[in-house]
Amino acid sequence: MNRKPIFAANWKMNKGAQETEDFVKGFLSRIRSQDLPADMVIAPPFISLPKLSELLRGPGAEQCAQSIQIAAQNCSQFDSGAYTGEVSVLMLREYFVHYVIIGHSERRSIYGETDEVINAKLKKAREANLKPIFCIGETLAERESGKLESVLRTQVTDGLKGLSEKDMLDTVIAYEPVWAIGTGVTATSEQAQEAHAFVRSLVAEIYGEDVASKVRIQYGGSVKPGNAAELMACPDIDGALIGGASLDPQSFFEIIQNGSGVAVDA
Ligand code: PEP
Repeated sequence: MNRKPIFAANWKMNKGAQETEDFVKGFLSRIRSQDLPADMVIAPPFISLPKLSELLRGPGAEQCAQSIQIAAQNCSQFDSGAYTGEVSVLMLREYFVHYVIIGHSERRSIYGETDEVINAKLKKAREANLKPIFCIGETLAERESGKLESVLRTQVTDGLKGLSEKDMLDTVIAYEPVWAIGTGVTATSEQAQEAHAFVRSLVAEIYGEDVASKVRIQYGGSVKPGNAAELMACPDIDGALIGGASLDPQSFFEIIQNGSGVAVDA
């Protein structure tokens, strides 16, 4: 199974409209003459989505801008109403948003999102035909106490509860060990491959081998230009979700360039 790698920039709470424009100009100048065999996604803060969609989908947008997909970093599990500070999936659709990150470990740990909330958000995203980037991953304490597999099993089974086979095929899973996010510590390619293979086996338990072989599983956690190729060469790693190193157009570009040339058949 040849899965197209997918590289997503998670800018977190960085880059307003002007910095978004500066990044896009710099990034487009790098991809203009390239044919990168990967899906490329940018997830800016909500406030910068109008600027990003104008730059990538507006009347003056250049051809290569079409190859970049727009993502949100979160969405509400509700349609509308008294939910101060929240943004609905239909609002996201107005800005050509195609993907939405759901269940990021920062949402889980700082904002208390449970597997139940994440499941509701995944369902809401799919109702609006958005493609979720569904994040899972263990803390260091969980890994060191031998709970890696049980944590991933719970996150996957509870998170995906009630999602159809089609929903699963339209979802990207991001395996992000919490101890590797923003720490500069990357999982070794062996650790990452082992976890990815396990996550794929969990998907196979629920949806069958055929679906599992098609689902893309990104790795996230201190991915940089220097480690992208080795990680992406692992048979079950199909791209990356990138925080810090995606803030600079050159380093995001190099990660994609180094990581997309090495996809292997599973
Ligand atoms: C992330 O936020 O999803 C992430 C992986 O961050 P970083 O690349 O900075 O570790």
